[in-house]
Amino acid sequence: MPLLYTDAEYFMVDSLPPKREVVKEDIMHDKWSGYNGYLDLSIDLVNQKIEFGESSKEEIFKSPLHIGTGDIELYSKGGYYQPFLRAGNNLFVSGSSIKGVVRSYSEALSSSCEGNQCNGDRLCPACRLFGCVSKGSGRRNDFNYQGRISISDVYFAENIKTSILKIPLRWGGKNREGRRFYWHCDYRAYEDINNVETEKLEIVLPPAGVTTRLYFENVSKQELGLLFLAMGLDPKHRFPLKMGGGKNRGLGSVWFMIKNQLVIGKSEHYYSTYDPEPQASKEDFLKTCLDQHLKTFNEEDRIIIDNNLKAFNLNHAYRTRSKAKQEFEQQVERNKDKYSRR
Ligand SMILES: [Zn+2]
Repeated sequence: MPLLYTDAEYFMVDSLPPKREVVKEDIMHDKWSGYNGYLDLSIDLVNQKIEFGESSKEEIFKSPLHIGTGDIELYSKGGYYQPFLRAGNNLFVSGSSIKGVVRSYSEALSSSCEGNQCNGDRLCPACRLFGCVSKGSGRRNDFNYQGRISISDVYFAENIKTSILKIPLRWGGKNREGRRFYWHCDYRAYEDINNVETEKLEIVLPPAGVTTRLYFENVSKQELGLLFLAMGLDPKHRFPLKMGGGKNRGLGSVWFMIKNQLVIGKSEHYYSTYDPEPQASKEDFLKTCLDQHLKTFNEEDRIIIDNNLKAFNLNHAYRTRSKAKQEFEQQVERNKDKYSRR
């Protein structure tokens, strides 16, 4: 089972050893093969009722979004805040940062390396799909692969309201090797926590969301299956993903959903028709792709994938407000020097 740390704001999941393959010509970018197309995705900030415990208590789980710029700005009420990323006047999320989020879940749900570690022309499934910059040296290892997934940049509506949220400093606690994913919890768990350093972030509050377009090129059904699984789109394994800043302070929980139809073509059909399989509904196509991906694992590996999916499930990955607050206070107590360093 995934390792659970009650002293941290995250849990760890197990990894499968990377299964690397030579990048074959048919997935290079100079010709069409496999499936090509796009799907429109809505990304919505989590805003829902959660039931927990044996007596089915409930609380509202709201998760704001903060996409940082690395800059700070003067706050009218004093001090500084970290603004939300903007392009012109619009709040903005870059497609590459959304791609990074999907990639990290894809890595945990396939036999992939952790974050672009492949070298040479033998790549793991995530590097083959999302791309890879070779860190090797010499002619043989000098191999950069563009990947076959791209995601459009998205803008929030011009009139969207933002707020300034004060959160405890995002000092992350102990470092552990491995894949970490942050617990989901309501951002108000961290209100009323005294005697800790705080920082201010510009956030968008739910209900809010954006729509983006994910393009895929020369992919197999199996690879689409991995993508669907990693975006929490499998009806049997729905889960919200975490993106942006403040993930350890109840921010950045989002649901992905396919909007409208999936526009897909198979190699030679690409320009002539977008729907080579008109008999199959979107749901059937999704299921076929998911099955193709999941059947690539042997029994032992499948147990790890299933455990990781269970770990991502909101029932498992949700910390109630009181639990998150209590754990945070214990963490502060253990690390007094780090939380009150100024
Ligand atoms: Zn890799």
